[in-house]
This record gives sequence, C-alpha cells and structure tokens, in this order.
Amino acid sequence: MLLAKHTLESGVLMLRGLNMDRQLLISSLIDYAGRNHGATSVVAKGSDGVVVTSDWAEVAQRARRLGAALLGAGVSEGQRVGTIGWNDHRHLEAYYGITGIGAVLHTINPRLHDEQITYIINHAADTIVFVDRDFVEVKDRIAADCPTVTQWIVFDAEYESFIDAAEPLSEWPLLDEWSAATLCYTSGTTGNPKGVVQSHRSIVLQTWATCSGDGHNVNSSEAILLAVPMFHVNGWAMPFASAMAGAKLVLPGPELDPESLIEWINTEDITLSAGVPTIWLGMVQHLQKTDGDIPSLRRIAVGGSAAPRSLMDTLEDEYGVFVSHVWGMTEMTQGSAGRFTHRVERMDRDQQRARQAMAGRELYGVELRLIDEEGNEVPRDGETPGELLARGPWVAGSYFELETPQSHTEDGWLRTGDVATMDSEGYITIVDRAKDVIKSGGEWISSIDLENAAVGCPGVVEAAVIGLTHDRWGERPLLCCVVDVPVEPTTILSHVEQEVPKWWLPNDVVFVDEIPHTGTGKIDKKQLRTSFADHVWSEGGS
Ligand code: AMP
Repeated sequence: MLLAKHTLESGVLMLRGLNMDRQLLISSLIDYAGRNHGATSVVAKGSDGVVVTSDWAEVAQRARRLGAALLGAGVSEGQRVGTIGWNDHRHLEAYYGITGIGAVLHTINPRLHDEQITYIINHAADTIVFVDRDFVEVKDRIAADCPTVTQWIVFDAEYESFIDAAEPLSEWPLLDEWSAATLCYTSGTTGNPKGVVQSHRSIVLQTWATCSGDGHNVNSSEAILLAVPMFHVNGWAMPFASAMAGAKLVLPGPELDPESLIEWINTEDITLSAGVPTIWLGMVQHLQKTDGDIPSLRRIAVGGSAAPRSLMDTLEDEYGVFVSHVWGMTEMTQGSAGRFTHRVERMDRDQQRARQAMAGRELYGVELRLIDEEGNEVPRDGETPGELLARGPWVAGSYFELETPQSHTEDGWLRTGDVATMDSEGYITIVDRAKDVIKSGGEWISSIDLENAAVGCPGVVEAAVIGLTHDRWGERPLLCCVVDVPVEPTTILSHVEQEVPKWWLPNDVVFVDEIPHTGTGKIDKKQLRTSFADHVWSEGGS
C-alpha cells in the first residue's frame, strides 16, 4: 500500500496521487501487441534473402524464448548484450528479448571501422553479441580483441538453436522503470564515441510521443516500412512505436536501395515510413526515371539531416506523400515533428511548404531553447540564430562511463552542438552543426541552406557545402555536386542565388562522382574537408 502522505526533505507534507504503482517497461509494449494485435503482420527479409512473414503474437512468443535463453546463458540485469544486425525479425526479437529481462540492448553500427566497433564493445563490456551473417567477417577480425564477450551468436541457424533450447518465459520480470534498457553510441567527430543509455521509462515515454498525433501519429491503421537502420537511434523508436500502436511492421533487411523500397511499399501496402533524406531523394529519382508510383504511401518522417524543400514539393505534388520533417539526435531520439497546426493548415501551400522545410516544431516532452555565446536566451523570432539546447525526461543527462563536462550547461540543459533559429510556434530551423557553419568575414553562412538550394537545381542529384580557408574572408563555401546530366556551374549558382543572400554564393563548384556519407547516412563533411584541403580557389572564386 502506498503512503498517501509523504514528508519531503524540506519538511513539507506531500499528498501523493493514489494511482497503481505500475512501472513503465518495454515488455509492456510487446505484451500489448501480442495480446491485442497478435494477428497483425510483421514481415521481414533476412540477409539470406528469405522473407519471413510472422505476426506480433509470434514476435512476442519468440522474444520470451530469447529472454529465457539469455537468462539460461547467465545474462543478468544491467549486463550489455550487443547486436550487429540489419532491420529484420531476429533483430526485432532482440529489441524485446534483451530489454525484457533487464539486460541492456546495445545496438552497434556495422558501418563503423573495426577499431571503433572494438572500442565500443569493450567500453560497453558486452557479454553476448548477436551478429548478422553479413558481419561474421567483422566478428572474426575483432573477436580476439573483445575479452568481455563470452559468446558471439550468428543471426541464423545458430540463433535458432540458441532460442529453441529454451522454454518461453511465462511472464517478464518486473523491473524498475529507471533500469537501463538500451545503449547506443553516438559517433563524435572528435574524441571517442559517447554511449547514450536510455531507461525503460524513457523509451516508453518517447515512444508515446512518437505515437502521438503531433509525433508521427503512429496508430493501428498503419503499415510501417522501417527505412531507418535499427542500429541508428533505436530505429527512431519505430520498432517500439509499432508495438505500442499495433501497426503492421515491415523490416526490409539490408536492402534500402530505391528499387527495393518502392517494391516493399507496393507489395506490402505501406502507409507510413521513416528515413534520412538521402533515402527519399534516391527513391524520388528512381520513381521519376521509371515512371513509377507509390499510391499507398501517405506520410513519411524525414530527419537525421536537413531535407530540402524540393523533396517535399515532389513527394507531395507528384506522389501525394506528406512529409513530416523531424529533428532529433541519439541523445533523445525525436525532438521535434512537422505536423501542421490548425493555423498552418489554413495557410496557402507556399507558406505551408516553407514550414515543412524547417526542422519541425518543439514536441511536448523535449524542451528546446537557444542561447548566444554569453549563454543568454535568444528570442524566438525565427531569425536570430543561437546554440540549440534541449532538456526533458528522455534527453540524456550524461554519457555512459564518460566525463563530458562540456556536454551540458551548468543548469542541466544538453548542448546539442546545432546552431538554429526558432519561431514563436516552436518551429526550428537548423542553420548548421556548430562545426560546419561557415564563418565568412565574421558572418555565418549556412551550409545546409546552400545545399538545399543547389539540390533544387534540375540535374543536381546531391550537394554538399564545406567551408575552406580563404585569404580575404577567413572561410568561403565550396559547393560539391553530384549530377545526373551535365550542368554548368553558373546554372547551379544562378539557381542558388534565388534562394540565399548574394554574399553566401559558393566561390567554386566542383563535380564529384559521389558524396561521402557517415554510417548513419549523413554527409561526411570531415572526409570532404580532407579531400578538398588543398583546393585552390579558381580565379573567379578567390
Ligand atoms: P545522430 O545522433 O547521429 O542522429 O545525429 C544528430 C544530429 O543530426 C543533430 O544534432 C543534427 O545536427 C542532425 N540532424 C538531425 N535531424 C536534422 C534535421 N532535420 N535537419 C538538420 N540536421 C538534423
């Protein structure tokens, strides 16, 4: 029985609410989906090319089997269990089986270098690591350097025998909702990767926010295609949200190429998806080249890096797909969302699109604010840039076994490292990563705005802008473009000029075969800066 009255340390008598003492646990999500949406499909393609069609009842049952097998193997509460996998059914079971018994799901990005993977496995002190067949070679190369790992289990017949040997748990253990549930490392461009630990409480709360109307409005009428890798910020909470909502879930395995995505959308009647802009840019180009269509798709969430307005225009005008532009980071998953307010709904399309090109609105649960270099709050006027700070019950308060004195302000806000503007309705516009912003003659140029403007030029498939040193201005922008037909640099610059102040115009345009991306699909500016470190400005550009 809970005490109705409780004396606080200050001596004040607090009257407690008289609700039941039920913890917010991830196991409640899979229990709910298994109980009420047991027959709803979960379709997944493994790296062996086999498509497995199951349902939430089966996922729930197999997760309990996995939980029992892990307990049998000696895994205890708080221990870390790694996964190096694609978006498939076994990885989904691991999401629930590992967390359900109180162990910590450590999702590992397979696109990292061997040294980085070794570093994070050792830092996390993983005990068991599940590996997709595609990454067995990675395991073979690094296993000897990972002394804490007692067992590597391949997501194939080996995994099946591991879980088959166990009887499914009759029920999940009752855990404290503050217990650690997931661990995901964010790849800092400087220093070592930092581990973000989310509790059960945090995951359930952020999943609720994702399902909310102004989040991604995930509900039981949806068929969701997960185009975000499950190793990137817990697949943006979508594997959890699909269970909370009881939605159909499709996990496309390793194939996130445009052709495969279009095929999945059409064969599985997909209504909602989520992924980084690069994926959707590729899909739109493919649809246009092949005269294809995606009639079932109603909405997508796009984030992880800035999405150009031209992408929203094409998706909505030509394919009837509403784009919710979201901003977030490993430290909190989703921090904003792009649903229109009642007022914006009644604006003309141009004004609406201008809002869509922003990075969404502050979502309840993650408070956002901007500060200047002195730490003073910057007005929410949609114009004045400042450093973006965040706080809330699912925002990381610190990192796993790492002192990072600079990561939070003295009064406890997370420093996101992004420079942004915000308006009175909470719409944010990401000007740049603080380290990518170009400082020309003391003024800031947004590389993101230049990239978005360049991508709007016909023939430009992808664009990246970096700042390079310049004798007169300190730094000036260099525009790197991938084109699918020959385009004159002057044509691109005239196009860009319509969208940005004249003094922002890149000094030079270079054409590249490919723009390098990080393991999570963002433009790898560090690599570009290295490649063009010796760039000599052309006569017109100097
Ligand atoms: P990660 O933790 O790997 O997801 O990276 C988070 C970072 O991605 C943020 O701090 C931003 O710099 C960037 N990001 C995420 N969403 C957006 C967006 N919609 N527009 C611009 N940058 C974004």
